[in-house]
Amino acid sequence: MTDIRGAVALVTGASRGIGKGIALAFGRAGIRVAVNYHSRADDAAAVVDAIKSAGGDAIALRADVSQSADIERLVREAEKAFGPPTILVNNAGILGVLSNDEVDEAEWEHVIRVNLTSAFLVTKAVLPGMRKAGWGRIINLSSVAAQTGGATALHYAASKAGLVGLTHSYAARLAKTGITANAIAPALIETDMVTGGLRASPERIPIGRFGTLEEAGETALFLVRNGFVNGQTINLNGGLYMSS
Ligand code: NAP
Repeated sequence: MTDIRGAVALVTGASRGIGKGIALAFGRAGIRVAVNYHSRADDAAAVVDAIKSAGGDAIALRADVSQSADIERLVREAEKAFGPPTILVNNAGILGVLSNDEVDEAEWEHVIRVNLTSAFLVTKAVLPGMRKAGWGRIINLSSVAAQTGGATALHYAASKAGLVGLTHSYAARLAKTGITANAIAPALIETDMVTGGLRASPERIPIGRFGTLEEAGETALFLVRNGFVNGQTINLNGGLYMSS
């Protein structure tokens, strides 16, 4: 286990949902958190306030992670506030609730860019700092959709499967540098995406309830603390999909 107090994390899409759960768990563990958001400034400010009132440190940073210029500014601002992030959670994502036949080229490119290309670009911007530190943690939010096809269309599933390939490549090539890369594949954590976008019912989950933001946060924290887990996909799904 690594002493992570004072480490710097960048969590994309941390204004609500799983990103929020991870930011709060990191804050409680003494990690300084750059809380990225896209449009919901008030929600991001509330996450920062919650971390600060619990004795931690955080900053809210607006950026659309599908835009290269925004990413450069995001990483610069995080570095200015706390120093180079050595923990990166590529969490920001969108769903696209469509049938496969409704996905046209523009919709395909948009979802791939927000969900997958963003992770490549943010990681590329943050990696030099991790290499310099000789330590780093990359955590990518995949999905059960990568494993089962999922409840929404093919572009979402493809973006989430792409994140697993990205994770494997980083994990293999960075293994000797002190940097690990892992994915989390959730299903039905209680967030806006699940209750609003998918309108999913907890009855689909064998355990019989939605997962919590705290359970997502603790999973990410485990991946930060443990330096021997590398190149893995952690299934956080109440038994919906079982891997061997
Ligand atoms: P959510 O409740 O819809 O929250 C999405 C977050 O992403 C928000 O903070 C949003 O920011 C941010 N975001 C969206 N587009 C962005 C962009 N272009 N740039 C920066 N931030 C952006 O989603 P969630 O359920 O917490 O899901 C989080 C991640 O886990 C996603 O990648 C999702 O695909 C994955 N996942 C979730 C589940 C689940 O059960 N919830 C299952 C499988 C996979 P604003 O608030 O500012 O809009």
